[in-house]
Amino acid sequence: MRIVEAFDIYRFYHVEEEETLALRGVSLSVESEEIVAVQGPSGSGKTTLLSCLSGLDEPDGGYVTIMGKHITRKPEVERAKIRAQMVGIMLQSGNLFGHLSVEDNIKLQMHLSGKIDTVWLDKLIEEVGLTERRYAFPMHLSGGESARAGLAVAMAAKPVLLLADEPTGEVDFNTEKQILSLLDEYRKKGNAVLIVTHSNAVANFANRIIHLFDGRIVNNE
Ligand code: ADP
Ligand code: MG
Repeated sequence: MRIVEAFDIYRFYHVEEEETLALRGVSLSVESEEIVAVQGPSGSGKTTLLSCLSGLDEPDGGYVTIMGKHITRKPEVERAKIRAQMVGIMLQSGNLFGHLSVEDNIKLQMHLSGKIDTVWLDKLIEEVGLTERRYAFPMHLSGGESARAGLAVAMAAKPVLLLADEPTGEVDFNTEKQILSLLDEYRKKGNAVLIVTHSNAVANFANRIIHLFDGRIVNNE
């Protein structure tokens, strides 16, 4: 089953007279039970792509569907509704509320989506390796811990589409393995996962790798 489809996505940024062609004609789809890795140099459009797929950003051309529903060119209220029900997104920063502990950040996401599951809460915290940091506040977390907490928040409501920007950046080998096994188990439940990663271990683990260069897909294995 097709979970997400992007058709001919274009995204341009304008800063004064300078135009950046962040995405130029990107088409892709991710099926249920698939983990797809996105790789590409800095500035190639990876984060912009995730934002467009999640409906956080609106492409200038093309469209995105999630479970067959158009998320592009819809009012923000409708996009937010689709996002809350179906998409989990972990960005490179800004995933956590500073005044809430790791546990409360995850719980908040569960409350917002109406899917409270304390067994899943415990499992998530354990599998992202944050048992010891469960009650810690974001300002006291390391970069790697923040990333893992952000991933747990993105997975809290068990979204059918999980998007993650560098979930294993700054983590040690064992934690990376643990995160990969969590993602694998998650995918097997029928979900789709798209991860931006510089890690070759993560890319090799994925079912498919999409290479971005200068806003275009250069090959699609
Ligand atoms: P990546 O995640 O692959 O490093 P990004 O998607 O962040 O790439 O950025 C793609 C291009 O778009 C880069 O040239 C970047 O400078 C530019 N860009 C990204 N966000 C903005 C923005 N909000 N305003 C202007 N330019 C942006
Ligand atoms: Mg980026």
